[in-house]
Amino acid sequence: MVAPLIDIQDISFDYEETKALDHISMKVEEGDFLAILGPNGSGKSTLLKIMLGLIKPSKGKIELFGVDSKSFKNREWIGYVSQKSNSFNSGFPATVKEVVAGGLVKKTGLFHRMPKKTYEQVVEALEAVSMEAFIDRSISELSGGQQQRIFIARALIAKPKVLILDEPTVGIDHENVQAFYDMLARLNQDKNITMVLVTHDVDTVTDRITHVACLNQTIHFHGYKEQLHTMSDEKREAWYGHSVRK
Ligand code: ADP
Ligand code: MG
Repeated sequence: MVAPLIDIQDISFDYEETKALDHISMKVEEGDFLAILGPNGSGKSTLLKIMLGLIKPSKGKIELFGVDSKSFKNREWIGYVSQKSNSFNSGFPATVKEVVAGGLVKKTGLFHRMPKKTYEQVVEALEAVSMEAFIDRSISELSGGQQQRIFIARALIAKPKVLILDEPTVGIDHENVQAFYDMLARLNQDKNITMVLVTHDVDTVTDRITHVACLNQTIHFHGYKEQLHTMSDEKREAWYGHSVRK
């Protein structure tokens, strides 16, 4: 049996006084496209940071690719696009290719001359998000949606098996959100990248995902999106706070 890529086992997390997560268990399997929903402050970003190993749970255990996260070494298998990473300082001088290459070298230093192999990897990552035409542009000239694609390319250049995105459509014009999710669905289906995404775009995202989880201190629901169809309106409203289209 193949181990889940992410296996969260009865995790709790407290920030000083705030109980952010309370006995959470869930699994992410290879090929899943999981949307994590939940009101502001319900612990979504905290859960992602625990998946990434950026913070350690106060209680419970997490396994990554079948290995206890305490001894998991292959961090490059898990790509991350953080919340608000698209609200880039408009004075930032970097070009698109430098930002994308930064995902590979794990350094922010600007290249005097980029090695050919690195350049080719940058092109490949930009092609995956349909942004190769922007390679020499300054990141600060791009729209919110274009910048977000660049940050995804920066995560993709390290060839992750899982991509974790925290509210990636904040800052994207409404008319471009559908195309953005189509792009994520292509990465999921064509490149077999498992997707874990926090979002409030319930209506737009439900066409693309395979699984949903709703956080409200504890997970109230984690399962196949098809299970949404059979759920009563009252139950869906209870776990999200408003109705979700069936
Ligand atoms: P969400 O992403 O669902 O909005 P978060 O995971 O950011 O929720 O936060 C969960 C709870 O933890 C909230 O009550 C928030 O105020 C609190 N919290 C988040 N980050 C910190 C922090 N660095 N220090 C103290 N409390 C925090
Ligand atoms: Mg958050």
